[in-house]
Amino acid sequence: MIVIPETFEISCFTITVHLVTGLVNEKGEECYGLADYHAFRIYLDADQPKELMIATFLHEANHFYDVLLELKLSHRSIDLLGQASTQLLKTKKGNLLKTEASPYEFSL
Ligand SMILES: [Zn+2]
Repeated sequence: MIVIPETFEISCFTITVHLVTGLVNEKGEECYGLADYHAFRIYLDADQPKELMIATFLHEANHFYDVLLELKLSHRSIDLLGQASTQLLKTKKGNLLKTEASPYEFSL
C-alpha cells in the first residue's frame, strides 16, 4: 500500500494535496491532476482509476520540483520521471512508506 501525503515539503515550501472531483485544466479539459504553483497545491481527481493515482501524484509533484528547484525539465521528462518513480514504489521491498489508514491511501 502506498499513501499519498496530505502535505510534503520541497526546500522551504510546503505543498498540500487535495482530492477533488470534476477536475479541469486551464483549457476546461478534464484531467487527473493539476499543480497550482501560486497556492502551492496539488489537485488530484478522486474519481480517476486508483492504479493511476500514485503516478498522477508523482507527476504533479515533479512539476513542483521542476519549478521550485529550477530544473527546467521538459514535460516529457517530468512524465517519464513520474512513471519511473511509480515503478520504483510498486517494486520496492520492505517498509519504506507510511501505511496508516488515510483518505489519501491507494493500493496499486
Ligand atoms: Zn504535467
